[in-house]
Amino acid sequence: MKPEERRANMQAVKQKNTKPEVLVRKLLHSLGYRFRIHKKGLPGTPDIVLPKYKTCIFVHGCFWHHHKDCKRSPLPKTNTSFWENKIMRNVARDKKHIEDLQRLGWKVLVIWECETKSAKAIQSKFLEVFKS
Ligand SMILES: [Zn+2]
Repeated sequence: MKPEERRANMQAVKQKNTKPEVLVRKLLHSLGYRFRIHKKGLPGTPDIVLPKYKTCIFVHGCFWHHHKDCKRSPLPKTNTSFWENKIMRNVARDKKHIEDLQRLGWKVLVIWECETKSAKAIQSKFLEVFKS
């Protein structure tokens, strides 16, 4: 990745309504699920909240949230310790948010950016959570 791309990405991490997120929302909508977005007042401000199913969904970028064993997540070859630090902080924060939500009685579903390539794969993840 070129430095300028990296910079653009760095700004993207703070952004809401990313492309994968919008994709997941469209799919939920087409399946008839009702949801709220960017719910404040919940740990981590989940990207999507389905109150009826007491479920929060995070749509995570593979690089920024370090999708384990994903080809999109390797750390840059330069400045590696800087990135490792930064990304491991994100991972720790994500973990804490999920634990906090679960303590509050929410189910938490994480959908990875790379999974949004397949509507079928996400759909089966939805079903797994919503059936119970
Ligand atoms: Zn991934």
